[in-house]
Amino acid sequence: MSVATPSPSCDSFRELLAVYVIGALEPEQASEVRTHLGTCSACEAEQVELAQIVAFLDAIRRAWPDPPWIAERPASPMPPSKGMA
Ligand SMILES: [Zn+2]
Repeated sequence: MSVATPSPSCDSFRELLAVYVIGALEPEQASEVRTHLGTCSACEAEQVELAQIVAFLDAIRRAWPDPPWIAERPASPMPPSKGMA
């Protein structure tokens, strides 16, 4: 029985998918990935999942554009400690 096995190149595309969904891929590579996604439902499903994660993280960033645990506070001058010998 022959199941439609994904081509070996799928693995390399999977590595590119995460970069692809955040739009940080080189235009040439992006078009290669896009072409592959059009022919490979497995990778396309993977891309959809990644896109959802990215959208989720983006929504968080929009909701809290300046989270207090990330915002750098200006270093408050330390009061000179008194009583030191
Ligand atoms: Zn694939």
